[in-house]
Amino acid sequence: MRLSRYFLPILRETPKEAEIVSHRLMLRAGMIRQEAAGIYAWLPLGLRVLNKVSAIVREEQNRSGAIELLMPTIQSADLWRESGRYDAYGKEMLRIQDRHEREMLFGPTNEEMITEIFRGYVRSYKDLPLNLYHIQWKFRDEMRPRFGVMRSREFLMKDAYSFDLDQAGAVHSYNKMFVAYLRTFARLGLKAIPMRADTGPIGGNLSHEFIILASTGESEVFCHSDYLDYEIPPADTDFDDVSSLQGTVDKWTSLYAATSEMHDTAAFDGVPDDKKMSARGIEVGHIFYFGTKYSEPMGAKVMGPDGQERPVHMGSYGIGPSRLIAAIIEASHDENGIIWPESVAPFDVALLNLKVGDAGTDAASERLYRELSAAGCDVLYDDRDERPGGKFATADLIGVPWQVLIGPKSLAEGKVELKNRATGARELLSVDGVVSRLT
Ligand code: ATP
Ligand code: MG
Ligand code: MG
Ligand code: MG
Repeated sequence: MRLSRYFLPILRETPKEAEIVSHRLMLRAGMIRQEAAGIYAWLPLGLRVLNKVSAIVREEQNRSGAIELLMPTIQSADLWRESGRYDAYGKEMLRIQDRHEREMLFGPTNEEMITEIFRGYVRSYKDLPLNLYHIQWKFRDEMRPRFGVMRSREFLMKDAYSFDLDQAGAVHSYNKMFVAYLRTFARLGLKAIPMRADTGPIGGNLSHEFIILASTGESEVFCHSDYLDYEIPPADTDFDDVSSLQGTVDKWTSLYAATSEMHDTAAFDGVPDDKKMSARGIEVGHIFYFGTKYSEPMGAKVMGPDGQERPVHMGSYGIGPSRLIAAIIEASHDENGIIWPESVAPFDVALLNLKVGDAGTDAASERLYRELSAAGCDVLYDDRDERPGGKFATADLIGVPWQVLIGPKSLAEGKVELKNRATGARELLSVDGVVSRLT
């Protein structure tokens, strides 16, 4: 992509309305634009990152055996009357009327709809287990939308829903998601800690929030610091191996970790003092086993091997890709801007032609742009006729992992400079050297 032809509306000034660093940087880097309170347009740079995050979420869902579909954003109120949640949901639900005065709503979540789809087709235990997910926009009329896409009203969510014959099966489905979440957040460059979460009236202990530690987080959390060094389950994890998966989950839940709602001071006292962490955290994912809460009232039943019909056991599993982007920036930035992990960076390389119009730098830049792109690199080529200082600032702000600086001085010696955004390390390489290094 040539920057001269791209749409990257960088802000020079720090926007006053933004209270936390991720919000400021997303506005300054031209990633998002507020269209109404808690409602954002995703500008091209932001959309690139959102798509990358969603792709990683999707890959790990698929790896664990979940199956993607796509449900609509608009739902009918009658569906929610079946579960009894239409009235219970309260003001967070955006209620709409169509031209026939039918009551509709913009979905804040999809338990009812997925249960309706399930009961329309599945009759037998032989079709279980099943886990269906989608990545779709949600709307929640948050009391206090704030911090940009961290707590917005319209936001992207991956929500998965598992169906099993009995509780044992449902626990296995839960464990699959648990492990998929560990892998997902690690691939996004984040250290997420699963913490015991409130299960509400259902009881049991099968609900975990995945929390990123960050001073700007809205949750208060308490945990054992060893979790920060725990090993992430590998890509070749066998998700059908019930006992080894349970072993992984047991290990990841053996030490203390809870949000303030579930905090147990006496249990936390048992954590060695030098391992006690009390911090702020951001909820980036939430998994939940809720048994027959929806299948029972909505009549989602299957025939068991004994010929008896029974309501299916369900769980739901959410991740917020849009909130995750803010969380990644909170975890990875410096005074000059964003530092993207390579896995979600909007571009792989920023190519800075430091003297546009100079035959030498133009030729070397064009050649690098061509060769890196041909080798599969996603390159943002700063070909604008601007001063080097502005180019450095833009490249640092948008946080692309590698910068290639092409200036007349080093080029006279046949070299260009390669800079790593995260470490600041610089290296002089030949043009060929850069291509082989980055590809
Ligand atoms: P919170 O406690 O922050 O209000 P929640 O518990 O209501 O979140 P869930 O219903 O568990 O959220 O939804 C699953 C995921 O969706 C959350 O873990 C989070 O990543 C994301 N999410 C929820 N609400 C928002 C929001 N207002 N803006 C952005 N992402 C959100
Ligand atoms: Mg909420
Ligand atoms: Mg929550
Ligand atoms: Mg939650």
